[in-house]
Amino acid sequence: MRLASYIMSREDVNVRIIPSKYDMTDCEIEELAETLDGMNINILGLSAYVWTWDVIKKINSAITHRNDLCVMVGGPELKSRLLDDWEGKPIFVYGDAELFLDELCTLMSEKRDVRDIHTRDIISDAVKKNGVYYTPLDRKIAWRNALYSEEFFKKLKLNEFSNEFVWIDMSRGCTYQCGYCGFRNRKGVAILQKDAIHEEIINLGKIDAKRVFIVDANLGGIPAIGKFIFSEFAKYAPNVKIIGYLRPEFLDDEYLAILEKSNIEELRFGIQTINENVPRWIRNNDITAVKTMLPKLKDVGVFWRAELMVGLPGDDFKALKESFRFVIDEIQPSLLFAYRLTVLHGTEVEQLCNSNVSEWVKADESSGGKVLASFSYSEKELMEMLDFSNKITNLYNKAKVIKPTYEELLDCMKNKVNNES
Ligand code: SF4
Repeated sequence: MRLASYIMSREDVNVRIIPSKYDMTDCEIEELAETLDGMNINILGLSAYVWTWDVIKKINSAITHRNDLCVMVGGPELKSRLLDDWEGKPIFVYGDAELFLDELCTLMSEKRDVRDIHTRDIISDAVKKNGVYYTPLDRKIAWRNALYSEEFFKKLKLNEFSNEFVWIDMSRGCTYQCGYCGFRNRKGVAILQKDAIHEEIINLGKIDAKRVFIVDANLGGIPAIGKFIFSEFAKYAPNVKIIGYLRPEFLDDEYLAILEKSNIEELRFGIQTINENVPRWIRNNDITAVKTMLPKLKDVGVFWRAELMVGLPGDDFKALKESFRFVIDEIQPSLLFAYRLTVLHGTEVEQLCNSNVSEWVKADESSGGKVLASFSYSEKELMEMLDFSNKITNLYNKAKVIKPTYEELLDCMKNKVNNES
């Protein structure tokens, strides 16, 4: 969407967005390929996310007969996937691709051969490495046109756009460095200019968007911009319900006062653990901020969900239980989730998958890197931790109005076992 809005101001370029399901059947892919055959297009952009990967590969295969068509594939999945088995000659680009696409459009409008373009080592300022063009890591967000403006819909011929649930990004990257994170695709964070944010929030109000998911790693990228975004929504699009991720460290009393006046559907906070034995470079959280700021959320009436992580190296069953006890008794989120650690390629934690390291971790390659054991817990202990997490989060989330205490949940779990036996 951002790429489309950037490129559509070129007089010599027509942009179309073709909404497609991520679970398209083979038949639907064939139909799409036929539709594309009937369209006069020079560049086809495909988004490479974990949930789109299989389908975009098939779409690419279905159009390899089009020698005149340049297929551009971009997205976070490129970093962790093998690319050798892609048919044809797609161009892979990783990072902010606005300027890259601009250059590609120029090359295509000059009638350059797609095969020639593919052999270039540099396009715009993106450098090719192992078959992927990497854009610079410290780029500002290139921005030309506001998303969801009248012009945006008119130029993109997006007649069937639904305003029920809208996705938007207002920053890229993250200022934190959690050791398990596979998301970091730039140095630090890049923020959309304030006037761009202002214009887009006004547009969201005008199209009467019902719910908006701001997909930033941490809403706004930095606290000041996060506060600005919520304040702008309250002024110009007060009916839009907001969903987004925030860090406990972003919160202060001013932020809480802004949140109190905001129309929030759900805020999500990754707590991961409060166990100080998990090395700081892995968890990268400030446990003091977790303990002091998150309890205040219930006072401002915000619906929010806490997320814990199961299987962090340094953690064990006893400490995991203490993380749950703390979250349930002392900060009482609206919802509680716990996720099993996955060791992703290219992350710092991956370096612990080596038996020579004292703080080792073992992961299951065949399941995409799900953690199995570590220096601080055995495989058996992990299974118990996962089972416990599953049961306690289910029970906690079932209670809608009055949240149970940790002890009450333990009793409930014990009673359930007794009843079953
Ligand atoms: S805060 Fe989130 S996006 Fe940022 S490094 Fe940590 S896990 Fe990754």
